[in-house]
Amino acid sequence: LYSTQPSLQKEDSDVKGGFKGHDMLAPFTAGWQTTDLNPLIIEKSEGSYVYDANGKKYLDALAGLWCTALGGNEPRLVAAATDQLNKLPFYHSFWNRTTRPSLDLAKELLETFTASKMAKVFFTNSGSEANDTQVKLVWYYNNALGRPDKKKFIARAKSYHGSTLISASLSGLPALHQKFDLPAPFVLHTDCPHYWRYHLPGETEEEFSTRLANNLENLILKEGPETIAAFIAEPVMGAGGVIPPPATYFEKIQAVVKKYDILFIADEVICAFGRLGTMYGCDKYNIKPDLVSLAKALSSAYMPIGAVMVSPEVSDVIYSQSNKLGTFSHGFTYSGHPVSCAVAIEALKIYKERNIVEKVKSISPQFQDGLKSFSDSPIVGEIRGTGLILGTEFTDNKSPNDPFPPEWGVGAYFGAQCEKHGMLVRVAGDNIMMSPPFIMTPEEIDTLISIYGKALKATEERVKELKSQ
Ligand code: PMP
Repeated sequence: LYSTQPSLQKEDSDVKGGFKGHDMLAPFTAGWQTTDLNPLIIEKSEGSYVYDANGKKYLDALAGLWCTALGGNEPRLVAAATDQLNKLPFYHSFWNRTTRPSLDLAKELLETFTASKMAKVFFTNSGSEANDTQVKLVWYYNNALGRPDKKKFIARAKSYHGSTLISASLSGLPALHQKFDLPAPFVLHTDCPHYWRYHLPGETEEEFSTRLANNLENLILKEGPETIAAFIAEPVMGAGGVIPPPATYFEKIQAVVKKYDILFIADEVICAFGRLGTMYGCDKYNIKPDLVSLAKALSSAYMPIGAVMVSPEVSDVIYSQSNKLGTFSHGFTYSGHPVSCAVAIEALKIYKERNIVEKVKSISPQFQDGLKSFSDSPIVGEIRGTGLILGTEFTDNKSPNDPFPPEWGVGAYFGAQCEKHGMLVRVAGDNIMMSPPFIMTPEEIDTLISIYGKALKATEERVKELKSQ
């Protein structure tokens, strides 16, 4: 049997000692794995590659966790951090005190976003904190407007918005809810916009989008529009399996949300800064959000940082009403940490100087077409993606309704094969996800496609073998 984490396969692990001998309660890691098996310890990174404790080299096809956009050893980011550490390692941003890097980064960020007008930035340490902050901002805003009942959030099945109590509630993945007494009661979930899996026979993408927008409207009417505060969505769903929206989806969803005076929150934690071949996912799908969540590539992951961008309409209400409601009493010790902000400023500078959006746009056809050429494989249900993000779903008979038996561990076997051949991907059941660094060279993309091909071939053989048993 194959676990969901390929690096923890007994036969593939050559690190002795086991996680049992470590003191860490590992995130998103199953208990039996932490007690019986060995972690893959990554010790060094270089460009698009990482190296494990035994010196084995892996192409990092997930860019860490969808985040190391500029790869593993960008000296300018290291210098930005070092300079700031030498000058001022820390000061906070509470009570009208702050630091220059946090002010500069806020200004820079607002200039990068053009899909709709954004007026203010609130800094966090992570994407989860950004989405928790969204909820508190929206509640504060509706309290300020004297609408105490307008507090519910609508998110989507299979979305991922983080793992704190509130961001996990917004997420639409059962594993984040079960055994944690979640989701919180103010969160509702509407349809996952996955055309291949959920469309009705004969339904076009446009018709599918219309049906989902109607379902959303019916949910709002059933709950009462006066109770719904905000709708949150990733432009392309990431951890739920890489799901780009079907044609006309966001156009129709935005019309519904607007009709009922519901705020639109774009969770750009994965999509921002070039991942889709546009600066933001909102640019690609013509989304005009009221609020935006950021993290990951904001600092190319060299330092932890997240952010919320707020529209003038929302920030004006918060500022003008704060006399009535009192201070906006929300923030983290490390909100606007000067070292994280200095690194993020440098990352944004590099994205601009190297024209990273155009770069992603120019290399993504090689990545997308190369991998989608494997769509004919008998074990592949669907390969989907855009820009430098791609998901593969293994199913039998090319059908969304014929999953392989979970105990076959088809996805995990594929992941283990990638690992064996020197590549790291994200495995979630029979879904494989990839989002390589923006700095990938054409040769590295060829290597990525070649390893994917080898892993797929081995997995096809394995499935044949299992079927014949
Ligand atoms: N939103 C999205 C879309 C994400 O993909 C993630 C992380 N994968 C988060 C939020 C949460 O970010 P973090 O892990 O930094 O809390």
